[in-house]
Amino acid sequence: MAPDASTTREALLQLTAQHLGPEALTTVEDSRISAVSTDTEPLPLSPVCITQESVPRNLKSDPAAIMVGLESEIPRWEPGSVVKWTAWQMGYDSPADATHAAAHLKQAAEAWNKADVGVNFEFVALAKDANFVLSMVVIREMCLLVSAYFPNRKGLNFLYVYSLAFRPDFRKSLWKVLTHELGHVLGLRHELAMDPNLSVSKAMRYKLARKIHFR
Ligand SMILES: [Zn+2]
Repeated sequence: MAPDASTTREALLQLTAQHLGPEALTTVEDSRISAVSTDTEPLPLSPVCITQESVPRNLKSDPAAIMVGLESEIPRWEPGSVVKWTAWQMGYDSPADATHAAAHLKQAAEAWNKADVGVNFEFVALAKDANFVLSMVVIREMCLLVSAYFPNRKGLNFLYVYSLAFRPDFRKSLWKVLTHELGHVLGLRHELAMDPNLSVSKAMRYKLARKIHFR
C-alpha cells in the first residue's frame, strides 16, 4: 500500500460523514454476523461478473490480456498481507439484508483463509482500518449480483452487492458469488477470458471462472 493510502482513506471517510452524516459510516457488528449454511441449491442463473474488464476481441490472442487486461502490470499483494474489510449497515432495504450480506462475505473470506494462499482476509470494525468496505448499490441489472476489484494501492476499495443478490433464489447462495469475487481481490483472473470463441459476456460469467475456485 502506498504511504499516503491511509491519509486518502481517512479523507474520503471524512467527506462521506460530512455529506451523508456520521451514521453513513455505521458498520455491521461482528457479533451479529453468524455462520451461514453452505448446503445450498445451484444458482438459478449464472451471474455476470464485471470485475474483470472485457478485452477487445482482436487482442484476445495476446497472452498478457488474460493476466493484465489492458493495464501495464499484474498487481499482487505481498505474501503475508492481510486484506482487512468491513461492512456498512446503511443502504440496504433492511438491517437484516446488511447482516446477511456481511455473514456471506465472512463465509467467503473464511473459505479463502482455509485455502491458505498466502494472503488472508480479516474483518475489522471500522472503515478507517479497512482495505475494502462491503456496500449496497441499488441496481437491478440482469444477473449482476456482486462486483469487486483487483489488488491496488488505493486507500479504500468497495465490494458492491446489488439488488438481485437478495432475490430469494440467489440469497442463500450469495457466499458462492462472493467467494468468486474475493478471488479477484486476491488477483485471480477468469481462466477462459482469452478464448476467442466465447463472447465477452460468456467469458466473464461466473460459471466458467468458478472452476478455479470450487474444485
Ligand atoms: Zn469474475
